[in-house]
Amino acid sequence: MNETVQSKQTVGFQTEITQLLKLMIHSLYSNKEIFLRELISNAADAAEKLRFQALSDESLLEGDSELKIRVDYDPEARTVTVRDNGVGMTRQEVMENIGTIARSGTRRFFESLTGDEAKDSQLIGQFGVGFYSSFIVADRVTLETRKAGVPAEEGVRWESAGEGDYTIESVTQPERGTAVTLHLRPDEDEFLQGFRLQEIVKKFSDHIPLPIVMRKEGPEGSKEEAEEVVNRASALWTRSREDISAEDYEAFYKHVAHDFEAPLAYLHSRVEGTTEYTLLLYLPRRAPFDLWDREPRHGVKLYVRRVFIMEDPKLLPRYLRFVRGVIDSDSLPLNVSREILQENRTLDRIRAGAVKKVLGQLEDLAKNDAEKYQTFWAAFGPVLKEGVIEDSKNRDRVAKLLRFASTGDDSEGQNVSLQDYVARMQEGQEKIYYLVADSYQAAKNSPHLEILKQKGIEVLLLWDPVDEWLVGHLSEFEGTPLQSVAQGDLDLGKLADEGEDKAHELVEQGFADTLAKIKQVFGDKVADVKLSRRLTDSPACLVLEDNALSRRMESILKASGQPVFSASKPVFELNPKHPLVKRLQDAPEQQRFEDLAWLLYDQAVLAEGGQLEDPASFVGRFNRLLQDTLTAAK
Ligand code: ADP
Ligand code: MG
Repeated sequence: MNETVQSKQTVGFQTEITQLLKLMIHSLYSNKEIFLRELISNAADAAEKLRFQALSDESLLEGDSELKIRVDYDPEARTVTVRDNGVGMTRQEVMENIGTIARSGTRRFFESLTGDEAKDSQLIGQFGVGFYSSFIVADRVTLETRKAGVPAEEGVRWESAGEGDYTIESVTQPERGTAVTLHLRPDEDEFLQGFRLQEIVKKFSDHIPLPIVMRKEGPEGSKEEAEEVVNRASALWTRSREDISAEDYEAFYKHVAHDFEAPLAYLHSRVEGTTEYTLLLYLPRRAPFDLWDREPRHGVKLYVRRVFIMEDPKLLPRYLRFVRGVIDSDSLPLNVSREILQENRTLDRIRAGAVKKVLGQLEDLAKNDAEKYQTFWAAFGPVLKEGVIEDSKNRDRVAKLLRFASTGDDSEGQNVSLQDYVARMQEGQEKIYYLVADSYQAAKNSPHLEILKQKGIEVLLLWDPVDEWLVGHLSEFEGTPLQSVAQGDLDLGKLADEGEDKAHELVEQGFADTLAKIKQVFGDKVADVKLSRRLTDSPACLVLEDNALSRRMESILKASGQPVFSASKPVFELNPKHPLVKRLQDAPEQQRFEDLAWLLYDQAVLAEGGQLEDPASFVGRFNRLLQDTLTAAK
């Protein structure tokens, strides 16, 4: 090791950390005891990592295999110390883990801060405050650590007052693991009392599967040195359900999920048979800040016989990446590498079983607690939709869990299930009608809905970016086909009216020349020009041919850098009952005819939330017509 690395260094925090610290101290002050939960949580993680690494290299334990956490306090020095004999950190690791936030999504998190304290303190919970919560109660924090398996001289001492920088130096540290010492702020004397610390440890960390020891309180003035274990120290998921309180479940969730808020729901179940495993899985209440990252940081933790193996966001399928908790199995080999686990058939079975349980849990919520299910759907609905695309085995079950906005439901909320929809279909209705648009507003007011509204036919309204894929993979639900109302000929099947059909044919004959003339105006810009059967109020709309790529899908593909081969052309549909369309039929002079035809086309683009290719020409035509009208009205 060279001289510069060994000597003491002062390093500035990433600017984000300084900002984070300020915000955190401010917004979490009323909750300050959580620092102990976070430090114990880190200590437990460190112990579990070591236990796992020791499976393949026993020497890492250095003859000390009794992993534990120790909480100490010193009223004279005014310090609280949390010590573990876990995996420890190298100098490099300390600098990477503490002092930088090298997490993807960090920038987005900071951008999302509003300056509104109430809102930001919620966000900070989602982000996870972890180690930095120490600074809520401490004006100086010292971390001393030595990585398992390295010589005592390679210890590291890190110290900071939480104000912009920290120092780091190499020290000799015989004990493996990490000790974090908080130098308490002047008003924080309550944490210098043993019973108060014990109370907090019990409240937050009873379930930590590792003994947490404290000095035994002797009678006043005595110098009692004995230790006692102050938590239950048994893995929560191994206990029977009757033996676990709601508080225990909640506290454990906060530890495994690195979350601040209570979970929305949990499932705890033991599966016996050829493959044995226990699941303790939670649904969070709120989306984590990295929900949409390609490489999320957290996932479900896998244990084999109570030994932590890995935390892998890919343990469950991607569409269930919001689930947190523990899967512990007796049927997996203890000494396996992550790589082997990835292709392990027993693990595949466990995974499939876990997916079924989670879906069961969601079904149960949807059925018995609509309000909670709505909370779930608002946070994770778009993610669950991916299940229809990804998980063909469970597609039907996932499809039943979907919720949509609908013309049959006034609120913008997504409340309507496919089952609800089918149950109230009109007599003779053979399809589930839907519309994908750019936003709820665009969907709700789309001209494509007009005839369906008039006939009282419900249409599901979709606008999530994932919806195009969703409907691409969901061609039917329990035998009822899904049909876009903005694509192909609108086939109302038995709902159509024969008299109307006849009348429409007659009108078409009368319009034949006009339609031909419009086609000349647009050339091969459009696939066809037709009289519409779906409009009642609007003059025109654009419709995609069956199987054509929608405009939205096209722009999504383009944005993601994928080649789009055949840019699809729309069919331009006109409403023959509309006065502006009738004007076309009156054969005005050519310039006027073209202006009007183009205006109708551009309006149709705008009405579905699209962008005009040539806005200046639109304005020019619009003004020409407007001026003519105003002149005529004089
Ligand atoms: P999180 O626990 O969510 O990762 P923290 O801020 O609590 O975030 O901790 C940051 C990182 O610092 C941890 O991921 C871990 O790598 C490291 N760390 C913190 N405390 C310890 C410890 N006691 N032993 C080993 N590593 C630790
Ligand atoms: Mg932590």
